Amino acid sequence: MTSPPREPIAVIGTGYVGLVTAAGFAELGSEVWCVDIDAEKVARLNAGEVPIYEPGLEELIARHRERLHFSTDLAPALEHARLLFVAVGTPPTYSGDADLSAVYAVVDAMPTSDRHALVMKSTVPVGTGEAIKRRFRETGKEGFRYVSCPEFLKEGSAVEDFLNPDRVVVGDDGDWAGDAVVDLYAPLDGELVRTDIASAEMVKLASNAFLATKISFINEIANVCEETGADVAEVARGMGLDRRIGPHFLRAGIGYGGSCFPKDVSALKQLAGNSGYHFQLLTAVIEVNELQKRRVVQKLQKHLGSLVGKKIGLLGLAFKPNTDDMREASSLVLAARLQADGATVKAYDPVAEDEARRLIKGVEFCPSPEEVVDGSDAVVLVTEWPQFSALDLREVAARMRGNLIVDGRNFFDPDAVEAAGLTYEGVGR
Ligand code: NAD
Repeated sequence: MTSPPREPIAVIGTGYVGLVTAAGFAELGSEVWCVDIDAEKVARLNAGEVPIYEPGLEELIARHRERLHFSTDLAPALEHARLLFVAVGTPPTYSGDADLSAVYAVVDAMPTSDRHALVMKSTVPVGTGEAIKRRFRETGKEGFRYVSCPEFLKEGSAVEDFLNPDRVVVGDDGDWAGDAVVDLYAPLDGELVRTDIASAEMVKLASNAFLATKISFINEIANVCEETGADVAEVARGMGLDRRIGPHFLRAGIGYGGSCFPKDVSALKQLAGNSGYHFQLLTAVIEVNELQKRRVVQKLQKHLGSLVGKKIGLLGLAFKPNTDDMREASSLVLAARLQADGATVKAYDPVAEDEARRLIKGVEFCPSPEEVVDGSDAVVLVTEWPQFSALDLREVAARMRGNLIVDGRNFFDPDAVEAAGLTYEGVGR
């Protein structure tokens, strides 16, 4: 017996979330009609190129070429699909609120229809669904349905996360559109949380804010460990074995970055403020994260004194390993601070160099980690790319002018670093 054909869908916005969603639903059997306003991106996708780095994505897209269609035109998507997944960017505005202009560009491009639904994957403030439904009513498009279906994938393991979600959250008005989204996700194992639209929106913001809080919390514990002689890695292990706490997101480092945590924490803080509630905890989470990036400079100064004329090597630039995403990466703040203090900065990243070149000025980009190390007074490990574990620490010591390793992610074994004749500075150990 052949299985019934899967519902065709549309995906609007083919960035990290949109492409993974499109490829993931194609893997589950759907025909997917993708739309993006970036004509160059669409041309590259049509030529078989994948414009972002995400493990497994290129293979998945290649495998389902026949089911994936890319266009700048909405018409084919509206013709073939009734569910239109929205995955456009919602970057922060200067005030810290989410910029919803791309979302509303999509909303306003929708025709009058009783047959279609927008399914919101983009992360939006609580109340956005209600506001979009109002907009539909005001413009005579009340037949258009709306579903909130927030996305929880992690860059670096996004394909894996799509196919094996912890949970699928569907917020809707209990109509055909919510049922259809639930059906689409039915082959996946994650637990279904079907709820109202505002609660679904809040699940996403609260989850990211909680994870960011966990990171800032362990970073503050690390800073206290530095003052008191405890080792934060041991502390985190001891804490994480408590099932009420759990082991994840307890790795001290030089702060969180990326396209989600910074903007979503700030958006939730602003949302609370706009609604008349002062979310004190998130104010501290944000401040701790900003200070954490800058503590690296203090550690360098502690050993090197003034940084004027010093050569500092950065290992890794992406906001985390296995991605080329540089949005809000700690390396951006660090490179700028070091140069402002008079240091010369060299850097290497296995995949994010092209993105980094657009965002960081005055840095010498090296083709290998060894060349970053050459002649450096200090080397800072910024992103814990697994391949850095293959570095021969004795060779590193021989190539450097100085001998300081600042391990921003507690990645190296401190004893091995010191055995190679180098000085080790981690975070909280
Ligand atoms: P992105 O910037 O990588 O991609 C957005 C895409 O939308 C771009 O290709 C852009 O050209 C396109 N676009 C913009 N306006 C458009 C329009 N009017 N019509 C069609 N296409 C348009 O963004 P992203 O990282 O994929 O994030 C998308 C959303 O998902 C954001 O709200 C983000 O917060 C959320 N999210 C991201 C992640 C993540 O890890 N990146 C995880 C969960 C949720």
